[in-house]
Amino acid sequence: MKIDRFPDDIKDHLFPFHTDARMAYECIGCETHYPLDRFLYTCPSCGGLLRISDLTFEALREIPGSRWQRIFDYRRMLTVDGLKGIFLFHELIFPIIPLDCVIQLGEGHTPLIRANAELSRWVGMDFSIKYDGLNPSASFKDRGMASAISFINYMIKTKGIKELLGICASTGDTSAAAALYLSYLPHTIVRSVVLLPKGKVTPAQLSQPLGSGAIVIEVPGVFDDCMRIVEQLSEEYEVCLLNSKNPIRIQGQKSYSYEIAQQLDFETRDLVVVVPIGNAGNVTAVMEGFLDLFRLGIIEELPLIIGVQSAHANPVVLWRERGEYRPVEVRPSVAQAAMIGNPVSFPKVSRLVEEHFHDRFAAVQVSEQEIIEGMLIANRHGHVVCTQGGESVVGLKKGVELGLVKAGQQVVVDSTAHQLKFAGFQQMYFEDSFPEGYEIKPREELRNRPIAMEASAEAIARRLGLKKKKG
Ligand SMILES: *Cc1c(COP(=O)(O)O)cnc(C)c1O
Ligand SMILES: [Zn+2]
Repeated sequence: MKIDRFPDDIKDHLFPFHTDARMAYECIGCETHYPLDRFLYTCPSCGGLLRISDLTFEALREIPGSRWQRIFDYRRMLTVDGLKGIFLFHELIFPIIPLDCVIQLGEGHTPLIRANAELSRWVGMDFSIKYDGLNPSASFKDRGMASAISFINYMIKTKGIKELLGICASTGDTSAAAALYLSYLPHTIVRSVVLLPKGKVTPAQLSQPLGSGAIVIEVPGVFDDCMRIVEQLSEEYEVCLLNSKNPIRIQGQKSYSYEIAQQLDFETRDLVVVVPIGNAGNVTAVMEGFLDLFRLGIIEELPLIIGVQSAHANPVVLWRERGEYRPVEVRPSVAQAAMIGNPVSFPKVSRLVEEHFHDRFAAVQVSEQEIIEGMLIANRHGHVVCTQGGESVVGLKKGVELGLVKAGQQVVVDSTAHQLKFAGFQQMYFEDSFPEGYEIKPREELRNRPIAMEASAEAIARRLGLKKKKG
């Protein structure tokens, strides 16, 4: 819609207006601030994790929540590059980045789809699924890459960076997203490297960074081993780390919460949000995002966040049970993108829960059998969810059984990636070919396979028991 058609009281706020914001890295441990003019991942003084802090956030509180709602709603009608996707919420993500430095490849604003009635009955209540598989690289990681790459672009343009090597460790989707977004930047300046645990990402996920032209390095071990290597590289060498340990990624991923609030017309009373937890970047961003909205009066209360983990990778579940955190050794999981034993962002989660969410955070454990069947059953009812989406669906089912969630509450379940990335696990279920470590035994009624037949209408009609038309 053209500018002159917007209401007068909105026109002033249609374009980013918080442009004299001052932002800094802030250590979540010792609270020291560091200027946001370089890449930094841990506190140089105490080694703690960093978050991005808007030192001028108070200025945003001068605008009442109801007005913010209208600003964001009207902005959705604007067709201006740089203000779509996650940057619709420019003031809450990166107000210091000018619009002409913003890079968007179509991420964010993924659909929120009401679960089919039979699926809702199976789970025990009504709910909706947010389809993050409909992002450009087919996972939620794209939101954080859009903020990271926009920041890198801003640094290139304002700090005259001549050379940059972006690197990440990945369970498959971070590398797909990083490689895609980095390849949009000038190749004369930017190189892209991804580190994968050999044999522990799906063929579709491996094809993505290769197709984007990244240098793909496979090493033995699991994700946690790759993470240790890139952490060392980012501490000792001139590289730009693109894992969610980099708080610049978390900034963009907060948009997930803003989008949900907007999709519910900002009526978020009694809201429950269910997300799978791997490295805990996503759940951190989701909590930080809702916290922003709450502080600005855009929503009235914080939602209940339910984090879901497989019994084969459950450090956060064990932390909630025992009140003490210890990394775990992971076992094979079909929720492979979340198969992480020592989540890097755990200290952030624990801080957010302690300071803000309290009993509005719960962790639920599900079995591998439940995860894969959650995915298969959801997809048999008109949905398109990945294994981690299946994990969230059965996580909600468990939450209902445990009495954590009650009928009448609004529930949003995150399907974090596209089903097709994980088609191989579906195939293993259908063929009953899971290696023992997964502890999955297929049930006949959920299996499906193609039927080879001769090319004959009559034979097919007979096989399907079709009735001949009369007359
Ligand atoms: C990365 C990823 C997760 C886990 O998210 P974290 O931020 O690491 O907790 C879950 N599902 C999918 C599809 C992912 O790519
Ligand atoms: Zn510190």
